[in-house]
Amino acid sequence: MLTSRLPGRVEPYKLAAHAEHLDGLVALADMSRLTEEAGAQQGDASVWLEFAIDAQGRRVIRGRLEAELQLPCRRCLEPMAQHVASDFQLGLVSSDDMAANLPATYEPVLVENEQLSLLGVIEDELILCLPQVVYHDESECPVSREQLSSGVEAEVSEAPSGNPFEVLKRLKGNTDT
Ligand SMILES: [Zn+2]
Repeated sequence: MLTSRLPGRVEPYKLAAHAEHLDGLVALADMSRLTEEAGAQQGDASVWLEFAIDAQGRRVIRGRLEAELQLPCRRCLEPMAQHVASDFQLGLVSSDDMAANLPATYEPVLVENEQLSLLGVIEDELILCLPQVVYHDESECPVSREQLSSGVEAEVSEAPSGNPFEVLKRLKGNTDT
């Protein structure tokens, strides 16, 4: 269980040179782009980061994050708790050329003036691992129950006028007598 806060900004090249590990919590409420994508959030993401220099001399971050998000159910739009987790590998780059030469196993992360915004990186990773759609279980979703009952009602109310042949038969029967 993590208790400390992850620093908002770090000097990633130094951390990679020393093969440092950084673990900590990041407040979800501070992530405005995540809020835009997924609605208001509370609580923290737990983050584990290993800074390293790989066999080809690239400076990289291997990371994992976990968070409990509140995502809107697509049926009733009420927020529901959803656990998300992601493992990622980032390649630190300081130019477009470096990014273009990075193998596909790494996501490029731009380092400017030796500085990296960890908050921005973690927010990007969280947005990437958002599930496309989430639904409550049918027994827990108010809209699902309403739709179910209104569906049954629709069938019932359609039944009387639903069969034109029945109506014709009745009309014929009436003229015969
Ligand atoms: Zn729902």
